[in-house]
Amino acid sequence: MEAPRVVIVGAGLAGLRTAERLRRGGYDGRLALVGAEPHLPYDRPPLSKALLAGDDEVLPPLLRAADRFDELDLDLRLGVRANALDAVNRTLDLADGTTLTWDHLVLATGLTARAVPAWSGIAGVHTLRTVDDCAAIRSAATGARHATVVGAGVLGSEIASSLRRRGLHVDLVDPLPQPLCRVVGEQVGGFVAGLHRAHGVGLHLGASVADLGVTDGRVRSVRLADGTTWDTDLVVVAVGGAPDTTWLEDSGIELADGVAVDAYGAASAPGVWAVGDVAAAADPRGEGRVRIEHWTAAGDLAATVARNLLAVLRGEEPSPHAELPYMWSDQYDTKVQCLGLPRATDEVVVLTGSLDEGCFLAAHVEGGRVRAVSGAGLPAALMRCRAAVAAAVPLDELRALAPWERRKVSA
Ligand SMILES: Cc1cc2nc3c(=O)[nH]c(=O)nc-3n(C[C@H](O)[C@H](O)[C@H](O)COP(=O)(O)OP(=O)(O)OC[C@H]3O[C@@H](n4cnc5c(N)ncnc54)[C@H](O)[C@@H]3O)c2cc1C
Repeated sequence: MEAPRVVIVGAGLAGLRTAERLRRGGYDGRLALVGAEPHLPYDRPPLSKALLAGDDEVLPPLLRAADRFDELDLDLRLGVRANALDAVNRTLDLADGTTLTWDHLVLATGLTARAVPAWSGIAGVHTLRTVDDCAAIRSAATGARHATVVGAGVLGSEIASSLRRRGLHVDLVDPLPQPLCRVVGEQVGGFVAGLHRAHGVGLHLGASVADLGVTDGRVRSVRLADGTTWDTDLVVVAVGGAPDTTWLEDSGIELADGVAVDAYGAASAPGVWAVGDVAAAADPRGEGRVRIEHWTAAGDLAATVARNLLAVLRGEEPSPHAELPYMWSDQYDTKVQCLGLPRATDEVVVLTGSLDEGCFLAAHVEGGRVRAVSGAGLPAALMRCRAAVAAAVPLDELRALAPWERRKVSA
């Protein structure tokens, strides 16, 4: 009998990590990795940080050295998009006309950057998701004097920070009251707003762009809804991403702002799994389905799916996903981090340090219990809160434990 065949669609972080984990777990059957981009799997965080701010040639920051792919014994198909999935007959149609059969299929297609349709085709307007986008923004920034970033989430804030480093004048616009609001709440967002102001970024919060001034097909100015106008050479739209699932709409796979998967990473059709930014996974802490767009979560869910896929092949019991979400973001010289899933309605209580000093840990509390801990400038201390956040301990218990205080090693 032929060995089972696993096909992974999406050759980004989650797709590659799934392949690596399958091989490390002992899977020696056929394994295909299909990626729409022409590049070997690469890392995205540097695209809004060092690669955007620096002067090095923009090359994909590979997640695995090119000469180490042979070890994975992959049927690697790059530069080819998967077009259609038949989950009943277990086939996958690729854009080059090939059809692959599979026993298990892992969907790892990530996100597509959201654009503003009305601005499509205007020269000088960009989004950032791929290394090619990064190269295009770098090239547009060369010789530009004034950039406008639309969207002050994690990505938009990092882009503003990197373009400031390049010496551009930067305006940052968002309808929300603070940057990073959706990820870390208003108080910590207010701290990030202070970083932007301290670095000379023009911050327009609670504001939206009404239209762009365009001459000869190129963006020249920005006008806000309140009439404020400025000249700009470059606009970067950072208003989030949409799960790359349009090609799955007729597949019968349940979609729910991404590919709906259970706590094991399994989608609604037998043998189909999803990992990374595209996966809307049942949350082990009872939060319902949660789609997390962070680097660490992509690798964590890939590990879970690889483990469970192997368990199914071996007739063993699968185990649910249990990792606590974690994210970081580099803003200027400050690392902002968050463990857990804070909500906008959480009470935010500073545990140590102060937001004014730029070095702090804060608990995000709901009903007296700690849902998350965020902070800046105290990375190791934040990580020591992991067990307490995972257990959602009462705030008083976290204060008494004070895991952020460095343990004294007894002689
Ligand atoms: C600029 C940037 C900076 C970031 N910085 C941080 C950070 O500081 N901290 C943090 O926690 N997270 C950060 N992230 C998020 C993190 O990089 C993502 O969570 C991670 O890349 C998700 O990996 P993924 O494999 O799910 O998706 P992706 O990395 O997007 O990979 C998906 C791949 O699938 C391909 N694909 C899509 N559709 C198809 C198809 N039909 N057929 C074949 N291939 C397909 C895509 O082309 C893509 O290559 C950042 C993201 C970006 C874009």
